[in-house]
Amino acid sequence: MSDALLVLIPGLALGLLAWWALGRPRLALAAPLVLISVLIALIAVWKLASVRAGVLGPTLLHVETDRPQVALTLDDGPTSAYTNAVLDLLDAADARATFFVTGAELSERPDLGRAILDRGHQLGNHSWSHPRLIFASQAALRDEIERTDAAIRALGVEGDIPFRPPYGKRLLGLHAVLGDRPAVMWDIEPESYDELSHDPDILAAHVIDRARPGSIVLLHVMYESRETTRLALPRILEGLRQKGLQVVTLAELQHP
Ligand SMILES: [Zn+2]
Repeated sequence: MSDALLVLIPGLALGLLAWWALGRPRLALAAPLVLISVLIALIAVWKLASVRAGVLGPTLLHVETDRPQVALTLDDGPTSAYTNAVLDLLDAADARATFFVTGAELSERPDLGRAILDRGHQLGNHSWSHPRLIFASQAALRDEIERTDAAIRALGVEGDIPFRPPYGKRLLGLHAVLGDRPAVMWDIEPESYDELSHDPDILAAHVIDRARPGSIVLLHVMYESRETTRLALPRILEGLRQKGLQVVTLAELQHP
């Protein structure tokens, strides 16, 4: 089913219901009522696309495990400016991460993808060009995912490649393309709270507090605007270590 029908069908139904409920006044009133209803449906579906839980298809928010491990996931990039420094930070803490890269950025710097793998980390698919993967044609969705998989495979990666939709947004059309492949979400996202995102100590404390075996932590460190998170990263890694939690890739968390 196309994502557009998710908006149009309830919008039309709601609009006609409103027209009928008003005692079927002049037909001229039906059009604006339907238009307003379609707008309401559009807002509702837009909100639905952000729901993290698995109502729209297979979803991974957390890994069921008793082992004292958490997965660190770093979205976007790789970027010339920050990837190597982040790799050094992770090495210093003996931590491993899953880098959800975009195909476009990876294709510009495949050497950085190579370095991520060589240093024991995992690559994940974060689409080719980082659009919102909703209201797009099946062909466009498939292209975003398959080209990025191919760029990752070109570095010699075998086995499952985890997939995370940009902005965590998806609708039915995306899952028709993904099939059984889950959308990898997260259960800890400190940057989503304004009150946490300006102070590295507060941001780090939030992650350390909430982390438990099987947690999936989402952080962004690849662009200039993410200075707070980059400063928080070593504090997070040290805090998790003190808490007895090992920081691993998603693959290691899922398949010890
Ligand atoms: Zn992203």
